[in-house]
Amino acid sequence: MNPVLGPGSEDRGQSVNFLCPACERRLSRDGAAHPCEHCGADSSVAAPPSDTLITRCAACGHEQLYFQKDFNRATGIALVVAGAVFVPWTIWPLVGITVLDYVIWRVVKNVIVCYECQAVHRGYPENPAIKPFDLVIHDRHVYGEAPPGAEEGHR
Ligand SMILES: [Zn+2]
Ligand SMILES: [Zn+2]
Repeated sequence: MNPVLGPGSEDRGQSVNFLCPACERRLSRDGAAHPCEHCGADSSVAAPPSDTLITRCAACGHEQLYFQKDFNRATGIALVVAGAVFVPWTIWPLVGITVLDYVIWRVVKNVIVCYECQAVHRGYPENPAIKPFDLVIHDRHVYGEAPPGAEEGHR
């Protein structure tokens, strides 16, 4: 038994969220691939182990990814509650908002998102090669090419 090298890296909360290509409903994988639970369509999408450095989309294999803050509902509610408890709103509302802003920035983790299929990779180490959301790259995926002049300043 070797608990360090065993298959225990499966339970660190990693997940891949993506849309079923057949029925377009949201699916979530935290480990091995299995067929769509809504329509039964075959799916080969699996969540890589949580220590994997994400360099391409786990859902479609696309290589252009961006990161953003993972604002899900539970986190938002928890932060509002924490803010209401710990921050003296009535005396220093502006300071409170600034502190809350900082706390959100520190506490909320980044998720890695695919420009092509919008799959969300959660619970993975940050890849320095992945940049924040870029509207120009996004538009290139949606419209096929960047609008004239939009390339300037983006390399
Ligand atoms: Zn489906
Ligand atoms: Zn993708």
